[in-house]
Parts: sequence; structure tokens; C-alpha cells
Amino acid sequence: MSELGEIAKDATKTAEYGEKPGQLEVKQDEIGDLLFSLFMVCGSLDVDAQEAFDEAMRKYEERVENTGEPGSGS
Ligand SMILES: [Mg+2]
Repeated sequence: MSELGEIAKDATKTAEYGEKPGQLEVKQDEIGDLLFSLFMVCGSLDVDAQEAFDEAMRKYEERVENTGEPGSGS
């Protein structure tokens, strides 16, 4: 959660709280920290990261196909 918070903080600040999304900046090493942490969480919870990603992609593709929008609205 700490790594996610670091990214959220950078994203929120650089995009001026969503007012200027084109200014969004997040450091590559922070994304790496978050990915590493997520893989560690997957390992601890016995979750297959590839299966979880594939499921998310299926949901994303279905949503875009059905609604034309990438966001879930939630
Ligand atoms: Mg970090």
C-alpha cells in the first residue's frame, strides 16, 4: 500500500488533482517498486499473477466492446 501511495501522490500532484491529466508524471522506478510489491503479494496469497492479469484484460476488452469506454466507472 505504501508503494501504491507513492504513485498516487506523484500522479495527483503532477496532474494537479486531475485538472491537468496531460501533465501526469510517475517515475519509472516507483512503478517498478509497485510491480515488485504486487508480485510479492501474489506469492504470499498464492495468486497466479499471469492469470489475474489475463482476467483483467478480458474484463477490459469486454467493457470496451460493450460500452466503448475503457473505465469501469467504479
Ligand atoms: Mg517506491
